[in-house]
Amino acid sequence: MSKANDPSLWSWVTVPAGSDFPIQNLPFGIFQTKDLSPRVGVAIGEQILDLQAIAEAGLLNSISFDKSVLSKNILNSFIALGKHTTNAVRERSSELLNADNQELQANDVLRNKALIKQSDARMLMPVSVPNYTDFYSSREHATNVGMMFRDPANALLPNWLHLPVGYHGRASSIVVSGTPIHRPKGQTKTDAEAMPSFGPSKSLDFELEIAFITGKATSLGDSITTAQAEDFIFGLVLFNDWSARDLQRWEYVPLGPFLAKNFGSTISPWVVTLEALEPFRVEGPAQEPEVLPYLKYSGKKNLDIALEVTIRTESGAEKLVSHSNFKYMYWNMCQQLAHHTVNGCNISVGDMYASGTISGPTPDSYGSMLEITWGGKNPVQMPDGTERKFINDNDTVLIKGYAEKDGVRIGFGECSGMILPSK
Ligand code: CA
Repeated sequence: MSKANDPSLWSWVTVPAGSDFPIQNLPFGIFQTKDLSPRVGVAIGEQILDLQAIAEAGLLNSISFDKSVLSKNILNSFIALGKHTTNAVRERSSELLNADNQELQANDVLRNKALIKQSDARMLMPVSVPNYTDFYSSREHATNVGMMFRDPANALLPNWLHLPVGYHGRASSIVVSGTPIHRPKGQTKTDAEAMPSFGPSKSLDFELEIAFITGKATSLGDSITTAQAEDFIFGLVLFNDWSARDLQRWEYVPLGPFLAKNFGSTISPWVVTLEALEPFRVEGPAQEPEVLPYLKYSGKKNLDIALEVTIRTESGAEKLVSHSNFKYMYWNMCQQLAHHTVNGCNISVGDMYASGTISGPTPDSYGSMLEITWGGKNPVQMPDGTERKFINDNDTVLIKGYAEKDGVRIGFGECSGMILPSK
């Protein structure tokens, strides 16, 4: 195939087949190595372009901004510069990495300095998260949970089709992929027990989600319309909202999740921009009954992003347990942000807004073990002969996500976390 027809040849940096990070993606992240302090980088193939290094060499001089934001250990100050600047930096990175461009490609010293192998780098939390909200926007997930926890005949609560249900989560315990999580302890009580008991959760679960990160703040009292919302969304990460189902079942009435959720959430380290995902817009599900005027929107606001969840046991046995897609979401990100701010709630740069568990229509596309095993009734058989109702100690849950079309794959890398025994 010629260079023009093969998107994998558009960069002079080798991009292996199946890579999440072709030149069309260029997500932002924070990395460090044993020699380099934390800084802003862009993923390309199996490498990282060190933006601090190319800025120091003058290769970002055509874009006017305070280059010190590239030497910080979080992206917040960079993304607060606004899309005008962050898009220009991404486009300039694309230009420098383009096969036809010699500025970096032909400069041996700078090229060796500015390109770092991902295998030599450690990825850090990409942003400091001031606020975290978790929605509940998959109709299939809300229906499945309603059937199991409440009334199968009336699984969706009366408000669900009229507003994107959500709750305020805990920002302090959001960690980057690779960070282990200790099994939470807490109170549980089943209907058969007279009194609650205390101990490690016996039904620890994952929730397959995607979160968007806001790049622009509002003042208290301001609202964001569905039409304005995308201007506030910097990019997306994969999100595992770890959940202790036994704690949740006892504690959640009447105010919703608390200790069943706040012990840890895991995100993927690379923030994929909304601009990179532009070719993957699709129509969302029809919304019936009609939504209130402030939740109406126009255009394609859902994204076709394939999602996979794999459980890896301590012995290394792996099983793909879910194959879902972000396109199934009933409420889209613009509606979520419009609803969140319609009362004047202010938002901050770096806020994280998670979708809620992304379940598809079939059991192999369910986004949690609660649904996959239907409350533990249908255990998953693992290749090493063991079975799983929920997540065991020393299991690792790996989430992957990618949008793919016309030979171009825009991926998120990996969102992985291992469960350690209770402390
Ligand atoms: Ca959740």
